[in-house]
Order: sequence, then structure tokens, then C-alpha cells
Amino acid sequence: MNYHPETIAISAGRPEVGPDAALNPPVVLTSTFHSGGEIGYGRYGNQTWKALEDAIGTLEGGSTLVFSSGMAAISAVFSILPIGAPVVASNQGYSGVMTLLKSFQESGRLEVRFVDVVDTQSVIDAMKGAALVWLESPTNPGLDLADLTRIIAAAKNLGIGVGVDNTFATPLVQRPLEMGADIVMHSVTKFLSGHSDVLMGSLSTSDSALLKRLQDSRNISGSIPGPFETWLALRGLRTFPLRFNKSQESARTLVERLKAHPKISRVRYPGFGAIISFEVDGTAEQTQKICESSILIAHATSLGGVESLWERRRRWPMESLSVPEQLIRLSVGCEHVDDIWDDINHALAAI
Ligand SMILES: *Cc1c(COP(=O)(O)O)cnc(C)c1O
Repeated sequence: MNYHPETIAISAGRPEVGPDAALNPPVVLTSTFHSGGEIGYGRYGNQTWKALEDAIGTLEGGSTLVFSSGMAAISAVFSILPIGAPVVASNQGYSGVMTLLKSFQESGRLEVRFVDVVDTQSVIDAMKGAALVWLESPTNPGLDLADLTRIIAAAKNLGIGVGVDNTFATPLVQRPLEMGADIVMHSVTKFLSGHSDVLMGSLSTSDSALLKRLQDSRNISGSIPGPFETWLALRGLRTFPLRFNKSQESARTLVERLKAHPKISRVRYPGFGAIISFEVDGTAEQTQKICESSILIAHATSLGGVESLWERRRRWPMESLSVPEQLIRLSVGCEHVDDIWDDINHALAAI
């Protein structure tokens, strides 16, 4: 069936229908399986993982593997590249990925060519001889957009693999596999699971040979999710479109209000999604004070949950120095938009 994403999120990954068959997939808590089947051992597979993998795979238009975290999923991608392989990557992005790439660069594990993803020609120029282009769009926390269509087309022309971190946009906004990307990655921790109660990652691809290599990597590294966490993520995924659409609608309202606020000098928002990055007209200390003054909005890292969260990104020593000291990243949750706005106003009054 060619369902809309809203329907897929609810209907995919369910057990076969039959009299007294469970509507929802069970949590399969077992470390081993009776012999003669396809799984064999709990590091190689689990029926609860498969239910979540079917659901995310159908949303992204490929086959999916789930991992113990988003970083575990990304690490699996890099693990299958040869030593010293040239990789083109954004010079701005999720701090964990940036730190990982820099450490690979320093150890010689990979040759990383950092580029400004907004400058499409510079990305294309850096591709010569590369093994992989790794993109994040929108970027975290700058919310810059890469021209995925042009970059993917150029990479395909040169026979270079493309991986896209689709955590911020989600398959409701963009489906990179349909655009020709080889791998789509998610921090399932964020919007897909959506309740800030589980860490998980996923990789999706429509290339069966690539899927097998990534699966072999997961089998051996053991970066597997727990069955219970997988079940929680699938439970969360059922309402992902509802939550995302609601948060996005509120984010659009808040962007207009933030732009009109005299204490805010710049608002970054790519036009979709539930993440807003804005800059306070003040010092780092004042910005920090604002984040600590909210009552409803939790002062916490992470994003994509039903709860609104915010933080000053530069409070993390690992964050890129190109991110302004006064930048606050707000993850808009599903509370009433006026309650979120009242809390922002209350916090801004602290300076
Ligand atoms: C959170 C995040 C990650 C890392 O995922 P974890 O689940 O925390 O390991 C990677 N990319 C982006 C864009 C993220 O927001």
C-alpha cells in the first residue's frame, strides 16, 4: 500500500493479522533462539528490532538497521570505510560527529575534507577521489541547509557514496534515499521516538549489499539496542507525525514572535521543523541566565521530544567555536504554544 507517512507511522511493523494475534509487537526478551532459524543469537537480530526497522524503513523508503544510539549508527558507517579513506563532511554539525571525525582525522583513520555545506560548489570541488560525502541538513545547531539535490547528483556522477543525517528534517520533510542518497541516518533518540526516554540510532539504505556490510558491522561491534528500548521507540514512533506537525506549527508561530522581540538579535529557522536557534542581544553569561530562568522549558540538552528544551550550545566545551556564545537552541515540544511563549518571555525578563 502506498500510504502517507502519517499512516505508515501507525500501521508499519505490526504482527501478522489473525484471530487473537497481538495488535502490537511483543517485547522479545531473549539472548538466544532455538536453532534452525534466521536469527540464532541476540546480537544478530530480534523480532522487536525488526518491527521498528520495518516502520522506519517504510518511512524512509529503504531497509533499516537499528543501533544502540545515533552515534553507534554513524560509527558503523565509518567503520566500513578503508583506512585513510577521503571523506567530505560539513565543517559544522552535531558536536559528537564533529569530534569523531576530528579524532579520525588526527589518527589517520580517515582523511576528512571539511566543507561549508551552504557553498554547494565547494562541496562538489572537494569530492574528487572521495569515498563518502557525509551531510547533515539542516545542520545542528546553525540550521543551515545543504542543496541535497545538487550535491547528491554530483556525487552520483562521480560514483561517490552519500550519507545523510536526517535527524532534524525527518522523513516527513525530506527522504534522501529518494533523492539518490545511499544511507540515511537517524538519531532515533530525537523526533522518531520523541519522549526523551530512549537512546537509539538507525541506518536506512536501498542497497542490499551495503545493508549486509552495515549489518555485519553491527553483528561484530555489538552496538545493538535493547529489545525493551526498541519497543519504546516504536511506541513513540506511532505518534511521530502528530508530534512533529504540532511542534512545527508552534515553532513557526514562535519564530515570528522571537523575531519581534527586542532582546533577540537573530533567529535561525530553516522554514520547517521544530528546532529554532536564536541569538540573544547580550553576553554569554546573560544568555546562560535566560536558559536557567525558564520554568516550563527544561534547561537540558537534546531535542525532538514532547517536552520543550533549550540550552546555550556553547556551554559544551566540545561545541564548535563558530557557534556564537549567545546562541540558544530551542527544541519546541507539544505544550500549548502560548505557554511556551510566556515562559520564553519570563526567562528573557531575567536580563
Ligand atoms: C543527537 C544527534 C546525533 C547523535 O545521536 P545519539 O542518539 O545522541 O547518539 C547525531 N546527529 C544529530 C543531528 C543529532 O541531533
